[in-house]
Amino acid sequence: MKFSRIIIVKPCLIFLLLTLINCNFISNFCNTESKGPGAIVLTFDDKYINDWFTADSIFSIYDWKATFCITAYGTLTENEKLKLMTLQNNGHEIASHGTHHYNALSYLSNNSIEEYIKNEILPSLNEMKIDGLNITSFVYPGGVRSVELDLALFDYFSVLRGTTYDKISAKSKSHYLIRGEKELLVCGLGIDNHYSHFDIDYIINLLEYADKENIALILYGHKIADNDTSKYVTSYNTLNEICNYVQQNGMEFLTLRELVNFNLN
Ligand SMILES: [Zn+2]
Repeated sequence: MKFSRIIIVKPCLIFLLLTLINCNFISNFCNTESKGPGAIVLTFDDKYINDWFTADSIFSIYDWKATFCITAYGTLTENEKLKLMTLQNNGHEIASHGTHHYNALSYLSNNSIEEYIKNEILPSLNEMKIDGLNITSFVYPGGVRSVELDLALFDYFSVLRGTTYDKISAKSKSHYLIRGEKELLVCGLGIDNHYSHFDIDYIINLLEYADKENIALILYGHKIADNDTSKYVTSYNTLNEICNYVQQNGMEFLTLRELVNFNLN
């Protein structure tokens, strides 16, 4: 697909994407329709299947929902694949997080978008679908992406997730979504212990804002574990605090896929 053709066909989508990328649209948004409760989207990247499976047995007391974003699906054991299917059957979403976990922009500096799709997207996506996983969301490895790639990947996915790292204001950042669209690019904010912006009070503050404004907050982590001080770990304490706030305040747990219909009447 040629980029020039896409620009002609999807000008509104490009505008939406650029608006999202600028990450500063909430204060300008007109609230004219009734909306549902505030929501949270918890996403977890890579392939910590066993840890996620254990976490599900603990955090199911909150009726939680998460999106588990799998990289290198072909390297999983049969037992891990069965656990993923169980997580899907428990109401969670399974998303694609690439076949090789390529840095998209590094890859595209020497390869075409068509090659990226052929080598990074399709192998895992096809295997996951054959095994009965319902894949409609893609999470960029490292959060690295481009508008051209976003537009090409909407041929395969309805929701794309990047990342954001800033800690400036609870009110004007891209880790929120106000309303769904048929094709969505969203940005997640990290909740692993080692991120410099992370502290649980800040995350709860973001949740309070999502609750007050009836919008969705998108978060991401990696491994879920207790008493693990390594990098890329979301602690049980973090999830307990978040899930408890969501439950106590009547907010909704959503998966990435469910954002497509968020706040649409
Ligand atoms: Zn990753």
